[in-house]
Amino acid sequence: MQILDGNIVSKHLRAQVQEEVAQRKAAGKKIPHLAAILVGNDGASMTYVGAKEKDCHEVGFHSTVLRFDASITEAELIAEVEKINNNSEIDGLIVQLPLPKHINEKRITETISWEKDVDGFHPMNVGLMFKGLPCFLPATPFGIIKLIEHYQIETSGMHCVVIGRSDIVGKPMSAMMLQKNCTVTICHSKTKDLTSFTRNADIVIAALGIPGFLNGDMIKDGAIVIDVGITRVADATKKSGFALKGDADYESCATKAAWITPVPGGVGPMTRIALLLNTLHAVKA
Ligand code: NAP
Repeated sequence: MQILDGNIVSKHLRAQVQEEVAQRKAAGKKIPHLAAILVGNDGASMTYVGAKEKDCHEVGFHSTVLRFDASITEAELIAEVEKINNNSEIDGLIVQLPLPKHINEKRITETISWEKDVDGFHPMNVGLMFKGLPCFLPATPFGIIKLIEHYQIETSGMHCVVIGRSDIVGKPMSAMMLQKNCTVTICHSKTKDLTSFTRNADIVIAALGIPGFLNGDMIKDGAIVIDVGITRVADATKKSGFALKGDADYESCATKAAWITPVPGGVGPMTRIALLLNTLHAVKA
């Protein structure tokens, strides 16, 4: 069994981005600038935005975080997004989800200029992705593709089973694996006899948010297991009081898999670097 190490690969890609930013700076070219909108004070959202800000600084990007009170109206938030759309200093914009219930997330996502939509959630980017045309790809599946490519895994002709059909992971992941010439099966909560699919899969991508769901009995020998799940579970032995658990039961899957991503240290760091790659692409576009 070999590990698909997101820490190592993302470090390698980060160094490349850093180098490219340094070259742009030396040549007097524009430095990528990512803006993030954060509404309210949800702890997890603040942590995610903080990490994105830190990542930007590390590679030499400019970053701006616009913080708004949870009481902001939808119309006010739309006006803020439009201001950024029209600000030529800013190349990429992300709106951290979830938003307060009185704000329609779809409407906000669709207000972001698709040319600054580095999260790849705008319908224009989704359409371009399904057609296999240049676009901003959603960070998590894009990061997974980069990980697979780094290890030079030939996916052509493989049967890939994706568990989960969310707009941010499962659906785009399936489209991207199709682009990689896989035969793709998408499983979800209504799938009957899910194990009959996973047992026949060369690649299983678990993105459902149920810790330890995929176990060794559900995969075939030599399968590639990509674990997207990150669920916080209470763990008194950790200083933070919790541990991050993936959707795959690592111990049992690792005894059969040819390749596996650990949690943490697999898909998570690849998601972070993918956002930086999209932002770099935004300034070059
Ligand atoms: P989501 O929006 O909650 O979607 C979960 C998907 O899993 C849904 O399509 C659901 O099916 C399916 N599902 C739920 N229970 C199932 C079951 N028992 N059997 C088969 N399918 C089932 O979640 P998400 O945003 O895609 O995220 C999935 C996981 O990945 C979460 O743990 C999340 O924290 C993690 N994540 C990690 C990263 C990272 O950077 N590592 C990034 C994004 C997300 P239905 O559509 O039928 O309801």
